[in-house]
Amino acid sequence: MKIALGLVVGFLALFGGGGAAAFQMGQTDYTKAETKLVRLRGNMSLIQITTPQDLNNILVLTGPEGYLLVDHPEAVANAIVQKELDQLGKRPVRFLLNTHWHYDHVGGNEIYGTDAIIVAQENVRARMMTAQKPFWSPAAIGPYAEKAWPRITFRDSVTIHFDGDDIEMDHYANGHTDSDSVVYFSKANVVAVGDIYNAKGEDLAGGLDILGIARSLAAVLARVNDDTIIVTGHSQPSNKRELAWYLPILNAQIERVRREIAAGKSRKEIEAEGLAADWAPWFAPKKFSGGQDFLGQIYGSIQHTNEVNQ
Ligand SMILES: [Zn+2]
Ligand SMILES: [Zn+2]
Repeated sequence: MKIALGLVVGFLALFGGGGAAAFQMGQTDYTKAETKLVRLRGNMSLIQITTPQDLNNILVLTGPEGYLLVDHPEAVANAIVQKELDQLGKRPVRFLLNTHWHYDHVGGNEIYGTDAIIVAQENVRARMMTAQKPFWSPAAIGPYAEKAWPRITFRDSVTIHFDGDDIEMDHYANGHTDSDSVVYFSKANVVAVGDIYNAKGEDLAGGLDILGIARSLAAVLARVNDDTIIVTGHSQPSNKRELAWYLPILNAQIERVRREIAAGKSRKEIEAEGLAADWAPWFAPKKFSGGQDFLGQIYGSIQHTNEVNQ
């Protein structure tokens, strides 16, 4: 029953959080994709692929040594991605970094994995090597072909020195998944956070452990400055000011759920209450109607009942 409940409530929350992107592998229609190449600063660009189902971001570092990419949607989107890369100059993809194991982030691995070095937290590789059956997917995902598996993995942190920048990947905690990385570009002052956060008003980023997401975001907030560009998996870019707004609301919501659990409230009762009122300015001018699924994830995070494989 717990799994059935998760199917309804967790499914919506997973890819980016709230409602925009609750689609399964193979359901995103890339024939209707609109693509934008955003020059962030210096040698950093963002490829934004908007489909009727989702927005997918691919962060690109360009330089004399070639490209370094962070994330890549499903393999069928590769022609679109490669076309944008060609606009930046015909260079080889030398590194591909995965922020987590989800199919809409590792789809480039099988394309570039023969020549490029794929780097990810060790659980990305472990999950790609075997069939995964997360509750939100009706069909098993993987195992992927060996060429798609990350070649360099790490448990907590690794740094790549490439194209004149120092690119640090940190796994702070289990959050959206058990394989999350935050990727800092030290010189460019850009950070890619994957699916643990979305820009103001765009959706709640949920997953396996919301407390872990809050811990990771606190680490990011402590490290970035007013000029840092925060790139997410599925939203417009964000910044320190927005993150400093979001994190206290998130922490307050977690504490509120904790108090309610201590007072004996059930998961259903907590979900039915909806989000606390202090979220409203974050979502304004939109009125956020969801939140039940997210509250359920917070409940499960506190009670340690969320499934690790999601
Ligand atoms: Zn995603
Ligand atoms: Zn994801």
